[in-house]
Amino acid sequence: MKSWFISAVPSTMVFLGILVACDAAYGRPPISLSVDLRDAPRKLLHATEIIPVRPGAMTLAYPKWIGNEHELGPIGQQAGLFITGHQDGRTTAIPMRWERDPIDLYLYHLTVPRGVTSIEVKMDFITSAIDETGAGSTDANIAVLNWNTVLLYPYAGPSTQVASLEITPTVILPENWHCATALAPSTTSVPESPISFQTVSLEQLVDSPLLSGRYFREVALAPEINPKHYLDMVADKPENLEISQTHIDQLSNLIRETGSLFQSRHYNSFHMLVTLSDCISGGAFDHHQSLDNRRPANFLTDERSLTLYGNFIAHDFAHSWNGQYRRPAGLVTPNYQVPVDTSALWVYEGLTDYLSAVLAVRSGIWTREQFLDQFAEIAAKYDHRPGKTWRDLQDTATMAPILWSVDGSRGYESWRLGGFDFYGEGELVWLEVDAIIRNKTGGKKSLDDFLALFYGQERGTGPKVVPFTFEQLVKALTTVAPNDWAAFFARRLHELTPTAPLGGITGSGYRVVYGDTPSAWTALKGDKDFAYSIGMDVRPDGTITDVHIGSPAQTAGFGPGMKLLTINQHPFSIDGLQQAIRDAKGSIAPIECTVDNTGVVITLALSYHGGQQYPLLERIPGTVDRLLEIVAPK
Ligand SMILES: [Zn+2]
Repeated sequence: MKSWFISAVPSTMVFLGILVACDAAYGRPPISLSVDLRDAPRKLLHATEIIPVRPGAMTLAYPKWIGNEHELGPIGQQAGLFITGHQDGRTTAIPMRWERDPIDLYLYHLTVPRGVTSIEVKMDFITSAIDETGAGSTDANIAVLNWNTVLLYPYAGPSTQVASLEITPTVILPENWHCATALAPSTTSVPESPISFQTVSLEQLVDSPLLSGRYFREVALAPEINPKHYLDMVADKPENLEISQTHIDQLSNLIRETGSLFQSRHYNSFHMLVTLSDCISGGAFDHHQSLDNRRPANFLTDERSLTLYGNFIAHDFAHSWNGQYRRPAGLVTPNYQVPVDTSALWVYEGLTDYLSAVLAVRSGIWTREQFLDQFAEIAAKYDHRPGKTWRDLQDTATMAPILWSVDGSRGYESWRLGGFDFYGEGELVWLEVDAIIRNKTGGKKSLDDFLALFYGQERGTGPKVVPFTFEQLVKALTTVAPNDWAAFFARRLHELTPTAPLGGITGSGYRVVYGDTPSAWTALKGDKDFAYSIGMDVRPDGTITDVHIGSPAQTAGFGPGMKLLTINQHPFSIDGLQQAIRDAKGSIAPIECTVDNTGVVITLALSYHGGQQYPLLERIPGTVDRLLEIVAPK
């Protein structure tokens, strides 16, 4: 349990953006960084940085561990790095050589010649290969700029404080493009490109992505509330910006509900930066004063997508409290080169995922029925997890950076487990915490009281990080409802069982049942789910993408990558497989399948007679309906 906080991290509070610059004592100017996005449509960003220096040896660092991404910085996309030295009052630039550190590949060593007072660092960043989809963060109409991808910073060893380095950013936009960011424009800035921003700490710059594009729309949310909130959207097509007034009202409700829930706000203003594109890589990143959500083009205009993914914006917004203001101590580091300890992501992500579902209903984005249906799916998924007999929930969080990078299409995910187990199973754990508090206090207290205590200890701080340890978390929960929380979490984090923790569901007056017909939620998703019946996932073309260990499909000899050709002598179709499962119920004859395994065709007999199995939540008669209480708007 102690593994998830670093004892070396001071428990003192860390202020984002407060400029206690060491260099300021020497009267040195801030670093300046100018990023030219005019070639973004052809996947190239150009950056020019001026860094004040002193003669002698120095090291520059490319940000390696970005806290809220929990992954390695994309140094492989860097190109065209040139460094020149400059002397006060002289126009001649002195070309300088850099040498990469042979052990830490994110560090560059150089020697600053005598007389040189600043260096100019020029570099490009190639946006096309940022992830395996090759889609990247820019296209013909859109550029999402993460400043950490286009800068180097002076590095004096592991104690380097990025909160103390001052930097003045500027951006040059393509003609007729617009942009939004949590950064404040400089007082001398003009609305046209280039746009300069106020000097901030390097930490705050990296925490403030910039969204830009040709088709742009900004909507003020919950305008009566201070600090101010904005929904900023860019899209490849203007019609994708046409979010309905109903959904704007729901997002405004989300702002109001978070105020009631956390009893505090920790930002000067908040920008929900949403990219609506089928050409930009999907992704979601949380920040103190903004969220960066990259979604399909119709994400905010299609009713189906608004329902199925209705909690996504709520998730990243809730991170401003859980993850940014209060952050597990292992994820608080002085700079981007110090590795992060992800072992408390079951709080960072698990609690946030639970709150995103609760807030979605309280804001009117989801109905109560949709909340119940999606919880039934989560419960079913994590109740069929054989991988949890060898890897505990804690290990999925500790291993997150590697689990996230594993290619999920290799199959056997329920046996290997993945980097999202601590989201979904974490959600069940935090529902259980909520149910325990409500039941122990006879409904007088709830998780809401813990949230107000833990995240609202100061009301309006501006962006600030207050690290927390496991012990502090347990102490706050105990204040709300006395219980052996340390033992509770130890059990949930370390138990080796293929089943899910369902105490939150039963403690809220419900149980998970399985029936022949999908819930409205499952039907809306369009899933033809065989996971809880025969135990495999099948694409419409017959390709088996996963087989669950211990399931009838695994016993019969199926494996990921095989392709179903026939079912009971008929050509394969999803409907045909569903019909065969229905027909086999009550009979003893196996379902006969032929499959192609890399060119070898074999026949497999699937002995399964349990019918279709779709999860649903059912009320336990005579119990208090805590879920109804949980989702009631504040
Ligand atoms: Zn998250």
